[in-house]
Amino acid sequence: MSFPIEQIRQMFPVLHQEVHGKPLVYFDNAATTQKPQSVIQSLEGYYLHDNANIHRGAHALADRATRYFEDTRETVQKFLNAKESAEIIFTKGTTESINLVAYTFGRKFIQTGDEIIISTLEHHSNIVPWQMLCEEKGAILKVIPINDAGEILYEEFEKLLTSKTKLVSVVHASNALGTINPVKKIIDAAHAVGAKVLLDGAQSTSHLEIDVQELDCDFMALSAHKLYGPTGLGVLYGKREVLETMPPFQGGGEMIKEVTFEKTTYNDIPFKFEAGTPNIGDVIAFKYAIDFLTEIGKSAVKAHEDSLLTYANELLSSVKGFIPVGTAKEKVSVLSFNINGMHPFDVGVMLDAKGIAVRTGHHCTQPLMKRLGLEGTVRASFAVYNSKSEIEKLAEGVSQIARIKNK
Ligand code: PLP
Repeated sequence: MSFPIEQIRQMFPVLHQEVHGKPLVYFDNAATTQKPQSVIQSLEGYYLHDNANIHRGAHALADRATRYFEDTRETVQKFLNAKESAEIIFTKGTTESINLVAYTFGRKFIQTGDEIIISTLEHHSNIVPWQMLCEEKGAILKVIPINDAGEILYEEFEKLLTSKTKLVSVVHASNALGTINPVKKIIDAAHAVGAKVLLDGAQSTSHLEIDVQELDCDFMALSAHKLYGPTGLGVLYGKREVLETMPPFQGGGEMIKEVTFEKTTYNDIPFKFEAGTPNIGDVIAFKYAIDFLTEIGKSAVKAHEDSLLTYANELLSSVKGFIPVGTAKEKVSVLSFNINGMHPFDVGVMLDAKGIAVRTGHHCTQPLMKRLGLEGTVRASFAVYNSKSEIEKLAEGVSQIARIKNK
């Protein structure tokens, strides 16, 4: 069966508009994806009919909101194939999920002289929390090097592992280059020295089939807004046996069992890590984003996006002055590039004038850009609703822009 691209595009109202007098081509999906009608309707429906604070409510609206909220937790559990829904913690996003682990697991289990390993490919949100922790604890941050294609050097990673390694925190798929890391191998090797592993799934969860039990990662962080869901919402998956050893993140309502002025006892997971009133409406709507993806099927999504990436590479490689950045063998649908003699920002502005939305700059990966000797790149990232005709518009646009400097 052919991919139902037109049917899918109809589900995304925002795509059907003109920008600067041209039909919008939205290729900024690694920054945030657009939302299907079902997610928007759920948000509206929640505030029109169901708004109430959740858990412990004695009335119908509170009961309904609680059920819908917990339904999403179960949907995320199935989506990641976690063993149980208690292993799914709602946060503000990938950034907060990683910080949660740094503040709780990190503060308790990482001591002076211990080592944390990350990779050169990391987003700032998987660098800075560990630097802060290392500074506080006197721990050491080690970085896996990469080759010029943007792939980690696995043998170098193995050399970095020691009995002092307490945590390996790596990106599953790079937002700047699209590289998919060999995470299963990384996890198994890290476990062999007794280290825990956190996967930054911000970019992988919308493109790849995820099975946290098979991967055997200890933590996975993700953002709903990169997965066709609402902004300001994310998930931390953690194995029960690891989460149970961790102290709470923030103190307040919901995360307690009993409070006296002398002593407080903490709630069970996941509530222990969800202090205060959560982002109820967005959590409820997130279920519809996951249902949307699940109905299409991740393998169909990946095949479609792979074909877009292959087509884009094919068309753009013949453009004089086109310089691809990040040519790993295993990639999600991210195309980073530069045009000879041009600043990425200028290319972005010129593409915008043609109705094509891309991102330019360092993509919150400054150390990676430094390693590649670049100030930044132009990044076109493709999603399930993008089409081959849009890729042709990108190629045509880039080709016109490149001709200015590359005659
Ligand atoms: N990690 C990666 C790989 C990302 O691409 C991003 C966002 O671009 C993040 C982490 C941070 O995600 P958020 O800003 O949703 O917390």
